Amino acid sequence: GGGGGGGGKQGLRLQGVGDIVAVASGKGGVGKSTTAVNLAVASANKCRLKVGLLDADIYGPSIPTMMKIDHKPEVTGDNKMVPIEKYGVKCMSMGFLVEKDAPIVWRGPMVMSALEKLTRGVDWGDLDLLVVDMPPGTGDTQISMTQRLQLSGALIVSTPQDVALLDARRGARMFSKVAVPILGIVENMSYFKCPHCQEPSYIFGRGGAKKTADEMGLEFVGEIPLEVGIREGSDEGIPVVVSAPDSAVSQAYGVLASRI
Ligand code: ADP
Repeated sequence: GGGGGGGGKQGLRLQGVGDIVAVASGKGGVGKSTTAVNLAVASANKCRLKVGLLDADIYGPSIPTMMKIDHKPEVTGDNKMVPIEKYGVKCMSMGFLVEKDAPIVWRGPMVMSALEKLTRGVDWGDLDLLVVDMPPGTGDTQISMTQRLQLSGALIVSTPQDVALLDARRGARMFSKVAVPILGIVENMSYFKCPHCQEPSYIFGRGGAKKTADEMGLEFVGEIPLEVGIREGSDEGIPVVVSAPDSAVSQAYGVLASRI
């Protein structure tokens, strides 16, 4: 396996794990975790892949809530944690290991050792795809993680809003710098469809992510509307692709999953 000291590109090389795809965003609150969760579950249930979901957002883990997991993982004889399976996806998160309201105030090196624990310290088994919910932003931590994870590619989530797109650009540049292929940009919260008249409202602006993708020569992978069901799914820990598998938005997640 990879790893070891020294400079250059150090990777984790997780045995038995096929593609490792990061879901990233330049800023928080754009729906990165929501996208990661629904993509992972759709990949498992619609595309019939063996899927893992790694919550690499060490400071602000969302996966315990979004996947409704509130117990600690078991440990195998050779001291590896067993990922917790939910909705057909094997999940691992720092949130499984620390108390819910405990502040997580580690510095960089400790974040990296936590990442180590959550990847190589886990008995992932055979996976076709490991979806990684990255911490938001483009700082040193994100760059180190990107290098350590040996990503097959990164999907960038943005809203149509200018500020979010500016950060999405920064994110795309970060992945390019460390030679990770960018699978494309997903636009989240693209519009809100009035439940009464069906008229779409472009609350955060219209067409921004597509334009940014075109300008940067990146693929525009798709758009996900702002929808109550998505928000409820995240809060209740039952992703919309599970609670309403035949809804238009679940189909949109299915299409996204088939594209990565
Ligand atoms: P991030 O990971 O980028 O910080 P989250 O995925 O945690 O963002 O989403 C932030 C909030 O917005 C969550 O409460 C989530 O339920 C909600 N949300 C995300 N995407 C949508 C959407 N398309 N429609 C409705 N609510 C959404």
